[in-house]
Amino acid sequence: MTGKHSVGNDPIIVASDVHKYFGDYHALRGVNMTVRRGEVVVIIGPSGSGKSTFIRTLNRLEPHQQGTITIDGIELKDGSNLDAIRREVGMVFQSFNLFPHLTVLQNITLAPMKVRKLDHAQAEKQAMELLERVGIPEQRDKYPAQLSGGQQQRVAIARALAMQPKVMLFDEPTSALDPEMIKEVLDVMKELAGTGMTMLVVTHEMGFAREVADRVVFFDQGNIVEENTPEGFYSNPQHERSRLFLSQIL
Ligand code: ADP
Ligand code: MG
Repeated sequence: MTGKHSVGNDPIIVASDVHKYFGDYHALRGVNMTVRRGEVVVIIGPSGSGKSTFIRTLNRLEPHQQGTITIDGIELKDGSNLDAIRREVGMVFQSFNLFPHLTVLQNITLAPMKVRKLDHAQAEKQAMELLERVGIPEQRDKYPAQLSGGQQQRVAIARALAMQPKVMLFDEPTSALDPEMIKEVLDVMKELAGTGMTMLVVTHEMGFAREVADRVVFFDQGNIVEENTPEGFYSNPQHERSRLFLSQIL
């Protein structure tokens, strides 16, 4: 525990011996991970190692075939609990995935009105608070295509937060951004970590990991090969495959 922000003792995500197959391909090979409330975990690893697949199983974008996943006490099982889980778990993708035909404000208010049953005024009030928080309230009436990548990603974060999730998953949130926009998105994520949000972040941004993460988890070939503090991972990786990977990206 590095004490970067307050982390509780109770586990909010428990993945136990999770296996995932795409046809014959064994993409996740018995993944075990426990994340405590308020913890920030950075997931890193080579392309194709199963990082996206793993976090997608956590909100059931991908079903797993073996093992158990529990989020805040709710077990993810086929078909059932889907709505409950999607409400608890927010997700931000590399490619933003905003609704192109809706304005910024409509992107953020849609799900809270539909799923959380907020009325229009409540949903707009909340959306504007979130847009202030991510620093772009003046963009409220624009369409996604009229925004920069960094702005779109901040809208995507605001949209996910509008559902008041207990966990936020980020899959390479800055990989599609021009370098000058990476910081504005990472700054929003840092602020979010400071509020005590539980976060799983697939990223190769070492500065973010060192500054914000409680733990770095290294994936290779469908499983976790090393778990370490950020300091330990980047300066003294324990596993040969972690060392090789770091030598290739740093
Ligand atoms: P990462 O995010 O670490 O780059 P992924 O989780 O995307 O890796 O992919 C892990 C492995 O699973 C890869 O070999 C990939 O080709 C395979 N895979 C991912 N999604 C699918 C899919 N929908 N159908 C078939 N294979 C997939
Ligand atoms: Mg991926």
